[in-house]
Amino acid sequence: MLVVGASFAGVACAIEAARAGLRVVLIERKTDAGEKLHTTGIVVKEAADELARLGPLPSDLILPIGGVRLYGSRLHSVALDSPGYFFLATDTPNLMRWLLAQAIAAGVDVRLATLFTGAQREGAGFAVNHVGHVRFIVGADGPTSKVARAFGLGINREFLFGIEAELTGVSLPEPGRLHCFLDRRLARGYIGWAFGGVGVTQIGLAARQRRAGDTVDLDAFLKKLAQIFDLTSMKVVARRAGLIPVGGPVDPIAGDRVLLVGDAAGLVSPLTAGGIHTALESGRAAAHAIAGALASDDGGAVTATIDVPGFRSKQLLRCAFDRFQTDWLFDVLLKTGLLAIAARLVYFHRRGLLSRAAWKDLARR
Ligand SMILES: Cc1cc2nc3c(=O)[nH]c(=O)nc-3n(C[C@H](O)[C@H](O)[C@H](O)COP(=O)(O)OP(=O)(O)OC[C@H]3O[C@@H](n4cnc5c(N)ncnc54)[C@H](O)[C@@H]3O)c2cc1C
Repeated sequence: MLVVGASFAGVACAIEAARAGLRVVLIERKTDAGEKLHTTGIVVKEAADELARLGPLPSDLILPIGGVRLYGSRLHSVALDSPGYFFLATDTPNLMRWLLAQAIAAGVDVRLATLFTGAQREGAGFAVNHVGHVRFIVGADGPTSKVARAFGLGINREFLFGIEAELTGVSLPEPGRLHCFLDRRLARGYIGWAFGGVGVTQIGLAARQRRAGDTVDLDAFLKKLAQIFDLTSMKVVARRAGLIPVGGPVDPIAGDRVLLVGDAAGLVSPLTAGGIHTALESGRAAAHAIAGALASDDGGAVTATIDVPGFRSKQLLRCAFDRFQTDWLFDVLLKTGLLAIAARLVYFHRRGLLSRAAWKDLARR
């Protein structure tokens, strides 16, 4: 089979499929998986568990973040914690290279600098340029998936756009916290963030993209943060940027011998915009579905699909946030503590009020 895209979803899928006994080619357009990143690389606890399935994660690639500090538009803030919960900041360039090394070790045929441009149906499968004949194609090629377009599958239509700078010469207060900033003018429909990552400080923001090409003003955000953080010696060493699909799962995500996973399938939480966990999870689930479907391949149509989260409550909250985000209201709610309760649910409890842990956590105060 062919997997297009060697990021979280593609590598997870390729490794699991190889472990299930399939011959797997994984192609990636970049020459180095760690270059030109478009993710902050914060891994939630559940994603860390998924990564651990792929191999023992080297400790020098990660740094635990134990809590959040949430700021209103006037930079009043509240600390949010949940005992036992953590995020991991990652050395993302080297995490991507480590993922690829795990794929090669699992027997995946990894081909970098190889662009998927299309495929022709041929017998029981496809003829793919630079690859040859394959029986199945997985589109793990991100938010604007070429695989989805080539086979008439669903495409993402709603996005946030995010930009982040990697900085040296900055040390933030409370280094073990993720600092998150609400500001409708700078980050409409999402937030800004700052944290001490592995070897660098990462500062970025994302906002709703209303028209193609809409961007965000990182310099204005840095200027705002200079009111509370010492940024006088900062040096920007790299930038990351990209689209985040927030419209929920695309439809259809699968066709005859093709399946989308990760961002290509729209599997990103519409509210938190976190997609690494669902990318890893959907990649792994896809591998099992495809291995099962190909086991009884008789040369006819082969459909393999995966369960996709509905994200219904998160989509409702996204809709409300898009429409009613108001700085003064959030500033008031921040002072009363009500925003802190809602924020703890969003940051620490994936299933929100459906989880018993959330109720126990909220009962703490
Ligand atoms: C600025 C920003 C910050 C983010 N921060 C976080 C975060 O901290 N935590 C979190 O959980 N989520 C975060 N996200 C979302 C998260 O990064 C994505 O959900 C996740 O990377 C999806 O993984 P993926 O493997 O599905 O796709 P991608 O990571 O988008 O990977 C797609 C891969 O396919 C390759 N590719 C594309 N087209 C082709 C082609 N035609 N041929 C060959 N290869 C191709 C690309 O080069 C890329 O390597 C962030 C997103 C952005 C934009």
